[in-house]
Amino acid sequence: MDIPFLDLRAHHAPLRAEISEAINNVIDSSEFAGGSFVEDFERAYAAYCNTSCAIGVGSGTEALWLALLATGVGAGDEVITVPMTFIATAESISMTGATPVFVDIDPTTYTMDSQALEMAITHRTKAIIPVHLFGQMADMDPILKVAAKHGIPVIEDAAQAHGASYRGAKAGSLGAAGCFSFYPGKNLGALGDAGAVVTNDSDLAGRIKTLRDHGQTRKYNHSVIGWNCRMDGIQAAVLQVKLGKLDRYNLQRTLHAAAYDKAFKSIPSLTHPFEKPGQAHVHNIYALRVSDRKGFMQHLASRGIGCGIHYPVPVHLQEAYAGLGLVPGSFPVAERLATEFVSLPIYPELNGDQLQRVIEAVEEAALASSAA
Ligand SMILES: *Cc1c(COP(=O)(O)O)cnc(C)c1O
Repeated sequence: MDIPFLDLRAHHAPLRAEISEAINNVIDSSEFAGGSFVEDFERAYAAYCNTSCAIGVGSGTEALWLALLATGVGAGDEVITVPMTFIATAESISMTGATPVFVDIDPTTYTMDSQALEMAITHRTKAIIPVHLFGQMADMDPILKVAAKHGIPVIEDAAQAHGASYRGAKAGSLGAAGCFSFYPGKNLGALGDAGAVVTNDSDLAGRIKTLRDHGQTRKYNHSVIGWNCRMDGIQAAVLQVKLGKLDRYNLQRTLHAAAYDKAFKSIPSLTHPFEKPGQAHVHNIYALRVSDRKGFMQHLASRGIGCGIHYPVPVHLQEAYAGLGLVPGSFPVAERLATEFVSLPIYPELNGDQLQRVIEAVEEAALASSAA
């Protein structure tokens, strides 16, 4: 592909020297698993998210799992989330022993439908996980209101929303906890897997810290059964370098998205992402809705442009969740959008020429499909 969907090589090229130095510092100190580089990054990331605590872990999936465990979620409980997400949101629920309960998404914002949420609450509901899909936060005010009414904690899946905000509040700072992934393709990406939980609840933070390190409170004293979910020192040092540039990366993504929106808004067969006023969308993924997705993607491929689909099969229709017995038609909005979404390249390093070429190819593809 001339213009790949994601270009991590272009992303890292200008950072090579700084990243190498950061990695060398970790090698010199030998603080590889947890340690002071992780603690430094945790302080910086908590400050960035406007929370009092951040806990570095091994992945976004672990962040969600540990946040649920530390909230007390376990076997026999239900946790409400959405079917239009990466499967990790549901897996983290299942791995506590609880059952994921899905509610549909809003057809304009693609995030949790707060009215459907209220109807799905039962006496077993122990947590609610809204997903800040594609970089836009879920509609937190009504979600938090419903949750507070029933006394249920909200855990934000902010894996795609580093730096996003909702009425001035940063992603991760509004719920009982916010969970982030630093997988390489996210807005803030490590050189491998990493994740973090942010929270203002120091007791919750303490429980997550214990759980991520074998339930250890003092060396070789284990108060609970935990797991090994520590963040690597090398990943923390790399993330510290990139955190200082995250707002610039997010701004570049936002400018690309604005250029796409402007070009596509007059094309009737395309629906561009809707940005809710009062929110800062950070565009981890730029998902267009198209009617003839196969033809559209073939045309883009013929022009050397890479694209993706996020996500082609909603979680409730995955084979892994067949045991829930949810049939097609259960969540019509998520199911319809799963057939229409196409994600365009939106990485910060896209240049003006590349952006223009993507726009032209999309215009041609839309014309071709409306003629067919
Ligand atoms: C990436 C992602 C995760 C999982 O993060 P990992 O670091 O890959 O484990 C969870 N939820 C959403 C919405 C994601 O996009």
